[in-house]
Amino acid sequence: MRKISFVFPLIAMFACLAQLNAQDSFINPPNVVFIYADDIGIGDFSCYGATEFQTPNVDRAAEEGIKFTNVHSAASVCTPSRYAMLMGEYAWRRRGTDVTGGDAAMIIQPDRYTLADLFKQVGYETGIVGKWGLGLGDKAGAQNWNEQFSPGLRDLGFDYSFIMATDGAHVPCVFLENDAVVNTEHNDSIEVNYNRNFHDKPSGRTNPELLNVKPSFGHDQGIVNGISRIGYMQGGEKALWNDREISKVLTEKAISYIESQHTKPFFLYFATHDAHVPRVPGNEFAGKSGMGPRGDSILEFDWSVGQIMNRLRELGLENNTLIVISSDNGPVINDGYNDMAMEMLGEHTPGGVYRGGKYSSFEAGTRVPCIWRWPLAVSPGESDALLCQMDWFATFAQMLGATLPEGAAPDSESLLSAWKGETSKGREWLVLQNQQNNLAITNGEWKYIPPAEGPFLNKNSNIEIGNRNEPQLYNLKEDARERKNLAKQEAQLTIEIDKELRRIVDNRYGLPL
Ligand code: CA
Repeated sequence: MRKISFVFPLIAMFACLAQLNAQDSFINPPNVVFIYADDIGIGDFSCYGATEFQTPNVDRAAEEGIKFTNVHSAASVCTPSRYAMLMGEYAWRRRGTDVTGGDAAMIIQPDRYTLADLFKQVGYETGIVGKWGLGLGDKAGAQNWNEQFSPGLRDLGFDYSFIMATDGAHVPCVFLENDAVVNTEHNDSIEVNYNRNFHDKPSGRTNPELLNVKPSFGHDQGIVNGISRIGYMQGGEKALWNDREISKVLTEKAISYIESQHTKPFFLYFATHDAHVPRVPGNEFAGKSGMGPRGDSILEFDWSVGQIMNRLRELGLENNTLIVISSDNGPVINDGYNDMAMEMLGEHTPGGVYRGGKYSSFEAGTRVPCIWRWPLAVSPGESDALLCQMDWFATFAQMLGATLPEGAAPDSESLLSAWKGETSKGREWLVLQNQQNNLAITNGEWKYIPPAEGPFLNKNSNIEIGNRNEPQLYNLKEDARERKNLAKQEAQLTIEIDKELRRIVDNRYGLPL
């Protein structure tokens, strides 16, 4: 698949939008800001039913926009979920899209057509701030962290980038701006190794007395800022981030990106680190939720949302900016550090009424909070349409009048009316991917999980993943919590849905693996 190299003339885009205007209530293309949480569940905001703490900024966005109750990430773990969202393609169609470490090579080949390419094609400025998690450079484990990366995010359609290579649990603990590590020094080279430690460096395993935050499982390798991580690093003393300030730094960068846009509409993918582990909330939030660092990190996310919304208003951009708030996968409580998240959870239910969580085939794995707020074109409301983040790609293409190049975003469905809350008819079928890359399928009413190898329970995090050696069929309308397996009782229906899943899996759109 070739990337289209021409830039869609701005004037043609305005002509398209003028045509759309008869049915859509906007003339100028909106700015688009994704505020993407990490491991925050559908029960984690007060507008979605949380009662143990309040998230007033997310709640305001929900009141002024559309609150979706059946939007899914395409997978219940970070990397395939983000891949699907940015590529409009199920991650399981591509090898090598599993969860990545900090030294992974770039999963997306530079000649692929990404969501950022779409926005560029129609004349937008494009930026990404925050967690990346899809690899850098062209060879795993062989990156030179002291030089400009190539290929980098610029090659994937982002004009500006300020990122963490992956998350705080993985080294290197540095920010990269426009594909180069920030604050490098030529006499303090950064080295990263995911196989062995550097000879004179302590690790979480050998020197737990050096840790401020102790691991609960894994996460016991290189120590940075008193926290042991996955992988080892040395050097780059001035480049290291301060864990307590990650959210503040990323929010400021997102705001300064917005402030720097004057001439064109912009697309900003703001991928926050909250509430991924290690959870080290800023001083203003530490201890405020009554639920330990996980709850505090959700309050911090809410603050970031408020900062972005307030600045857009001050800049006069509020009405014609589409803010999309969502999360890359469902919630997890204990995800590798002893941060008291489990002990202090109390009555809070991060996955709402749903079963499972991050890693799961069950609903809480992928059914995530999602809000679209766009005052100029979207009336406030609530929608239970079955939708997937992967569909934003084709939907934005339709909205902006762009024709996608052949083979781009093959699994993305254009469902603008549903995203605008004008219809509750969403997807007919949606395939979901769990931690072991096993698939499930839903049409909103029925959920089918085929027999699959792998554990039923993620013992480390105490989350039901859902793998079983027998078929599972649940009626989500009557049994949202997926307790009553109807596969035997509804044997014919189970066979039919199984066929549907196979049909989707086998449809390769003529693409090579
Ligand atoms: Ca995640």
